[in-house]
Amino acid sequence: MNSTSILNCKGIGSSIANKLKKINIENIEDLLFYFPRKYQDRKNILKIKDISDNVQASVFAEIVTAKTNYIRRGFCITRVSAKDDTGQINLIWYNQPYLNRVFKTGDKIFVYGKVNIKNGKSEILNPEYEILKDDDIASCLHMGRIVPVYGLTAGITNKVLRKIVNNAIAEHKNYLEEFLPEVIVKERKLPDIFTAVDNIHFPEDLEFLKRARLRFVYEELFMLMLALKYRKNTIKEFPRFYKYKTDEKTQDEFLNSLSFELTFAQKKVCSEITDDFAKNASMQRILIGDVGCGKTVVAAFAVYMAVKSGFQAAFMAPTEILAMQHYKNLENLLSKFGVKTLLLTGGVAKNKKEKEEIYNKIKNKEVDFIIGTHSLLQEKVEYKNLGLVVIDEQHKFGVRQRLLLAEKGINPDLLVMTATPIPRTLALSLFGDMDISIIDEMPKGRGKINSYFRSFASAEKVYDFILGEVDKKRQAFIVCPLIEENEDTDLKSVEKEYNKLKNGPFKNISIDFLHGRMDNDLKERVMKKFKDGVTQVLLTTTVIEVGIDIPNATVMVIKNADRFGLAQLHQLRGRIGRGINESYCVLMSGIKNEETINRLKNFCLEGDGFRIAQMDLENRGTGEFFGWAQHGFPELRVADPLRDIKVLEAAKQDVEKILPDNKFLDKNPNLKNRMNKIFNNEKLVL
Ligand code: ADP
Ligand code: MG
Repeated sequence: MNSTSILNCKGIGSSIANKLKKINIENIEDLLFYFPRKYQDRKNILKIKDISDNVQASVFAEIVTAKTNYIRRGFCITRVSAKDDTGQINLIWYNQPYLNRVFKTGDKIFVYGKVNIKNGKSEILNPEYEILKDDDIASCLHMGRIVPVYGLTAGITNKVLRKIVNNAIAEHKNYLEEFLPEVIVKERKLPDIFTAVDNIHFPEDLEFLKRARLRFVYEELFMLMLALKYRKNTIKEFPRFYKYKTDEKTQDEFLNSLSFELTFAQKKVCSEITDDFAKNASMQRILIGDVGCGKTVVAAFAVYMAVKSGFQAAFMAPTEILAMQHYKNLENLLSKFGVKTLLLTGGVAKNKKEKEEIYNKIKNKEVDFIIGTHSLLQEKVEYKNLGLVVIDEQHKFGVRQRLLLAEKGINPDLLVMTATPIPRTLALSLFGDMDISIIDEMPKGRGKINSYFRSFASAEKVYDFILGEVDKKRQAFIVCPLIEENEDTDLKSVEKEYNKLKNGPFKNISIDFLHGRMDNDLKERVMKKFKDGVTQVLLTTTVIEVGIDIPNATVMVIKNADRFGLAQLHQLRGRIGRGINESYCVLMSGIKNEETINRLKNFCLEGDGFRIAQMDLENRGTGEFFGWAQHGFPELRVADPLRDIKVLEAAKQDVEKILPDNKFLDKNPNLKNRMNKIFNNEKLVL
């Protein structure tokens, strides 16, 4: 059933099939599960005398006259006059010559569209229509009901898609298999899969639609929770392979070498990690903490212990710039203990020979600690004894990438870190198969971050303000958003802006720019100059979004701030306020939309990442600020774990109940197959 091609569906030939392929519909199941984006309620059929101006209306009428006039080549107008027992309405279509053959006097039609009333005459321009065959309103697909509206592709209209979905349901629905356990469907009062598929496409009424949606939301979150629990049940069977020395003297040696005292929260996480190291199973820990709370040093503590005990550690970061920064800081922190650290990024080796040398060093354990980007995952990179894997900004990585790195050792300890501000309840559900550590405290003596919203009209003032801060020996970031999804054009626009600023407001100070496209050496030089205070203003793209740490920078100007999600703005703002000085974040935008402006202004009032995530949630209807997939989770089609947190919790509860171990799955092959199908190539490591 799954793999039956859509060509076996009534109404689909190779031309339509090719078009559907573009929206990833290839087999019948794809089609049945291609859910509408929205619905139009065309149930309420109005009498012509009752329709009002400027309103979407459904009307049921009889055609009186129909005529298509060819005005000139390629241009025609079809006019239909129709009536019901209360009045008369004009229907007009432009440039659809085939309509000439469609409408006939005496035909009954349904139309749906926006009504214009001019001089007491009603008309609808380009209405959707359906001609009634045998007076049987219930048989109408496009009218007189709640009608699905799908995401389309070129050459496929909603009308076509409705028809083929309807055919597919009629012919193939019964081959679907209910994979949710019967007890759950009953207990949660969910519609079964057949009713749900029917009603998600052609709902009988809004209540049926609601329940069908709920079923699919539940189903998706249930499968996610199931896969996590399954993994957790399985992972217990992986014993720790590497044993570390974790005595207090060893720990203190590291802690005393720091130039600051760890916060209470950091200390707590360090002890959670040492406890993990003493267990018989390998560590599977996620460290969640707002930007700037000091996660890196905690990771360094773990690395120090692994390496001190004779094992290698790998540390993966999502961008080259961040990897370089970590390399500089961590090498500085750990070299005094004899730790040999190496940087491995795409640009670090000039040629094949240099690359080989690096691989050999890792393989022969001439280095203990390898920091890098996804370059660490390459097949050629082999470790001698990889005991610990750290993944920074885990939400920037795909699920598979995280797993691949861990597979380079024998059940290595795994520490993944994220600043993704998700509410605790959600974190507990999502990371349920890992142990969670949370740092909910900022280091002492942090300056405050003041945030402002400014229109572009105030640009001069903002630049003056930067000059004032530079006068006080502080530094500033200016971030330009990606304008095209194209690095080359972005590079050009950053260069252009750079020249404008350099020859304008910042002609007397030192300004530089940074972009993902620049080569490694150059990036490094630019970052070093900024870190050393030689550069005063750094113009950059979002390459600095994650992790970058320049405590002397006190200004963050974000241009076209409306183009960023709140979570991303929060990350960017987290680049400042890392030292003792008061810091300033300015969101600039030319946008006029009041709602967007308010959202940005509210962001300025809120400093806490978790509450910002909550705000994102409240805004959900209007934007897609908190992209789920962006945070590295498996794709979900209808569920939104934040919005649907109640359903998520219910699903989690149910999974806990039925899956104390994995035996239940062996007895329910439908469910197991389904799980394998969904998560097969995305082995779930959250
Ligand atoms: P994040 O959690 O966002 O990765 P970092 O690890 O980059 O944050 O730390 C931010 C800054 O705070 C760094 O400059 C780091 O040296 C500093 N820092 C970390 N812990 C402390 C502490 N306990 N006291 C003072 N400064 C600290
Ligand atoms: Mg960090």
